[in-house]
Amino acid sequence: MLSQRAKKIKPSPTLSIDAKAKAMKAAGVDIVGFGVGEPDFDTPENIKEAAIKAIKDGFTKYTPVGGIDPLKDAIIEKFKKDNNLNYTRKEIIVSCGAKHSLYNIAQALFDPGDEILIPSPYWVSYPDQVILNDAIPVFVKTVEADSFMAKPEVIESHITKRTKALILNSPSNPTGLTYDKKTLEKIAEVVLKHNIYVVSDEIYEKLTYDGVTHVSIASFNNEIKAKTIVVNGLSKSYAMTGWRIGYAAGPKEIVKAMTNIQSQSTSNPTSIAQKAAVEALTGLQDFIHVMLTEFDKRRRFLIKELNSIPGMSCITPTGAFYAFPNTSRLYGKSLASKKISSSSDFSLYLLEEAKVALVHGDAFGDDNYIRLSYATSLDEINKGVSRIREAVNRLS
Ligand code: PMP
Ligand code: GLU
Repeated sequence: MLSQRAKKIKPSPTLSIDAKAKAMKAAGVDIVGFGVGEPDFDTPENIKEAAIKAIKDGFTKYTPVGGIDPLKDAIIEKFKKDNNLNYTRKEIIVSCGAKHSLYNIAQALFDPGDEILIPSPYWVSYPDQVILNDAIPVFVKTVEADSFMAKPEVIESHITKRTKALILNSPSNPTGLTYDKKTLEKIAEVVLKHNIYVVSDEIYEKLTYDGVTHVSIASFNNEIKAKTIVVNGLSKSYAMTGWRIGYAAGPKEIVKAMTNIQSQSTSNPTSIAQKAAVEALTGLQDFIHVMLTEFDKRRRFLIKELNSIPGMSCITPTGAFYAFPNTSRLYGKSLASKKISSSSDFSLYLLEEAKVALVHGDAFGDDNYIRLSYATSLDEINKGVSRIREAVNRLS
């Protein structure tokens, strides 16, 4: 009865685990949640006030499909200021979250049989969005020894006549990797040589540590800019996951196609959330610094703790808010009838035995790891890692 397309995809594992953890919490179980990638901070007051004002002013009707001009202008300013990129309104589309922007890109660009390069480990939604368009995800395997960075020559070795695009994500979910400028320049050369597109997901742009500054691959020259669609959003930087505002910038023919697709699906993103987004982008930016300082403290603490648990090791991430420890040395161990042979076994074991929710690495394409989001308080992180340590110690 269902379409072939619907049968080919699975629900987002990150959202599924979050739903499970929240349900357990609601049922009174004392769960520590390292599952979903969602800032635990509240949306800043000035942003909320802008939304309330929008409601009171009656700004509650349809807007232009691709977003209101003041929001597009605020996004254009952001690109100028943060990324040294110049766009016009016709090159910008606002969608219901960055995930929706990515979905629109897939619909607008990917044909059946097109090969889409995805460095692995990858964020959960990239392969399924590719598959939804009958295109083919081609994984470019990366390794911990390279901090999970996809090397330009390895990317190139995966390019065929059918390759249409590369999906890049820096800072990265789930590894916390940030690409350096030199590597990005070389990747840009490969992309231009083979005339493919880059979808550059930069949603964690504001969350970098240890002196790393984010660079957009689109910013190197006009040639690479013409082949890149940059995706970004407000969910992570302004703690606005529920507001559903993301955006993309790219060549105007592609943005026009994405807008047509959006006009036949969701129409405009919520009018009220768009007003709030204008305030987020143009108002005081102090919040980001406060949040980042806190994330940095948690990052240092969590990585140190994870590395002190026997059988686990974790490289230090320089971006986003995820730790991605290697757990493969624990595979083969067991507690009574519970045998740990995979990241799923281990995650389930921790959920049941330690009441800790996190995501199995398999969901991101690498079974040797698990992902913990440290977008939760230091107290919770402390409690969670103590529980993980105890549960690991019980394995033999
Ligand atoms: N890209 C990456 C890498 C993500 O981790 C997420 C998860 N929030 C998104 C895109 C989508 O974010 P949103 O739809 O909330 O803007
Ligand atoms: N991107 C976040 C995560 O990876 C939120 C969940 C989702 O959008 O899938 O946890």
